[in-house]
Amino acid sequence: MAINELEAQSFHWLVDMLESVEVGLVVLDLDFRVQAWNGFMENHSGITASKIRNQVIFEPFPNIPEAWLRRKVDAVTLLNTRAFTSWEQRPYLFQFRNTRPITGTDDYMFQNLTISPLSGSTGQVEKICIMVYDVTDIATAKRALEQANELLAKLSMTDRLTGLLNRGTWENLVDAEFERFRRYGHTTSLVMFDIDFFKKVNDAHGHLAGDEVIKHTATTAKDSLRSSDSIGRYGGEEFGIILPETDAEGARVICERIRDSIEKSIVQTSVAPIRYTVSVGISQLSGKPENHMSWMQQADEALYAAKKAGRNRVIVHQSPDLSD
Ligand code: GH3
Ligand code: MG
Ligand code: MG
Repeated sequence: MAINELEAQSFHWLVDMLESVEVGLVVLDLDFRVQAWNGFMENHSGITASKIRNQVIFEPFPNIPEAWLRRKVDAVTLLNTRAFTSWEQRPYLFQFRNTRPITGTDDYMFQNLTISPLSGSTGQVEKICIMVYDVTDIATAKRALEQANELLAKLSMTDRLTGLLNRGTWENLVDAEFERFRRYGHTTSLVMFDIDFFKKVNDAHGHLAGDEVIKHTATTAKDSLRSSDSIGRYGGEEFGIILPETDAEGARVICERIRDSIEKSIVQTSVAPIRYTVSVGISQLSGKPENHMSWMQQADEALYAAKKAGRNRVIVHQSPDLSD
C-alpha cells in the first residue's frame, strides 16, 4: 500500500470517529463561519453539516451570547491556548433539548465546553474548535442535591404544623436582634402571645381540631406582618414575634389587628366551627436589660398580665426598673 493511501485511510477512520463521538465538535473560522459540524451537533440541532457550512454561527443560533463567545475566542486566538467553561458558569452554549429520559427534569442539555485554537502551517491561529460535552446527568444530580440540602436546612428551621420558625431558630433571632439593639440602639419590640382557654378547645373538639386552630392562629398572625418581622412557634399554642424598627405603640397597633382578626374569625374544622381569642404581651426594648432572655421575660410578664386582666387583650410591658 502506498504511503498516501495509508494516510488517506487513517484520515478516513479519524473522520469517522469524530463524526460518531458523543461529543459535539464545531470548527469555526475567525469570522465565526462554521467549517466543521459533527454527527453529535447534527443530531441535537437537527441541522446538517452541509446546510450549516459557511454560515456565521450566530445566524442559526441567535440565542448564543455573541459578545461572550467573541471574548472567549479572542482570548483563545490571542494567547494561542485552550479555554474551558463549565455549565455552572453558563448552563449551555447551544440550546439543545434535553433528551435524557430519566433525568429529564430540565428542559435543555447542560454543556461544558473546550475552545481550542487550530493553527495553520505558519503557526498562526486560523480556526477554533469548540467541543461540547453533554453534562446533563452531572448537572441534574448536583442541582437535585442542592435543592434537597436547601429543603433540609429549611425543614430544620421550621415547625412542621405551622411552617413558622421553630423555637430554637426564633430564639436565635431574638438574641441577634438583642445584640443589634445593644450596638446600634435601634427601636425594636418583642411580642409573646398565647391562645386563650386552649385546653377547652382540645377537650371539647379533640386534638386535631386544636391543631387546626393553632394553624389558623399562625396564618392570621403571619398575614398581618411585614417580611422583616419574624414570627415563631414558641410552644404548643404560644407564639413570638420580633418587630424590628417598631416601638411599643406601633407594636400595639399590629397586635390589636391580629387579636381582633382572630376574635372575629370562625375556624371551620372538620368537627365543628370554632371561635377563640388570644392574649398578647409586648415589650419594647429599652434601658439595659442583661440579655435576650430578660427581654423575653418582660414580654411574657405582659402576656401574663393580659391573661390575668381577663384575656383577649393586648398589654404593653412597663419596666421602670430596666429603663434607667
Ligand atoms: P390560658 O388561657 O391560660 O392560656 O389557658 P389554656 O387552656 O390555653 O392554658 P395553656 O396555655 O397552659 O394550655 C396549653 C394547652 O395546649 C395544653 C396542651 O394540651 C395544648 N397543646 C399544646 N401543644 C399542642 C398542640 O400541638 N396541639 C394541640 N391540639 N394542643 C396542644
Ligand atoms: Mg393558652
Ligand atoms: Mg400556653
